[in-house]
Amino acid sequence: MIKVLDARFVTTGTAPEHYPPEPIPEVAFVGRSNVGKSSMINALAGRRKLVRVSNTPGRTRALNFFDVDVEWREKKRTVRLCDLPGYGFARVSKVEHAAWEKMITTYLSKRTPLKVVVAIVDAEVGPSEDDLRTLDYLAARAPKVMVVATKIDRVPKAKRKPRLKAIAEALEVPLEVVLPFSSTEKWGLEETWDALLGVLAPA
Ligand code: GDP
Repeated sequence: MIKVLDARFVTTGTAPEHYPPEPIPEVAFVGRSNVGKSSMINALAGRRKLVRVSNTPGRTRALNFFDVDVEWREKKRTVRLCDLPGYGFARVSKVEHAAWEKMITTYLSKRTPLKVVVAIVDAEVGPSEDDLRTLDYLAARAPKVMVVATKIDRVPKAKRKPRLKAIAEALEVPLEVVLPFSSTEKWGLEETWDALLGVLAPA
């Protein structure tokens, strides 16, 4: 059982000098704009508005850091979440895209406390071309990658297992690393936290 005790915004920034310095085990969330990333972070943190949910793709262009205190396996622990700006938004200039890419690559290569990256995909529509590219990219650079398929509530129950299998195959990852999730139904929270904390706060 996991219990969220507290969740708070820490800081926002674009470059290493802005990253919070404490060596708290960190998980980063990445996904295309509108995939449901903000909703997922809010659901995991047990807050409705820790991260602003928006229908304006590409609004946030910086890294946002949050700390969450949890009780897990009878111990209190603090983990840090980093919300990476969504990709694949339309109408951004080449210059903006290059700046975004540099921000992400710098973060992935320099961020020592980063233990795992959650790649979020839409369970209803399946992985996009951008998701496939991101997964390839992460496979080579991230310390560890987990895939969370959100909006699973939009997939009929009987189709959920085959859908997860199809996502795993498309992304060329083992089925065990693809976790079903629904922010609206608060579904998959426990399993996702268990998987995350197994990496972030082992023992
Ligand atoms: P972000 O741009 O990736 O941060 O996505 P948001 O969290 O802002 O969500 C985008 C849209 O998807 C919003 O209209 C949400 O209400 C909706 N949404 C997010 N998560 C879920 C989910 O688990 N199920 C359903 N049905 N809708 C969701």
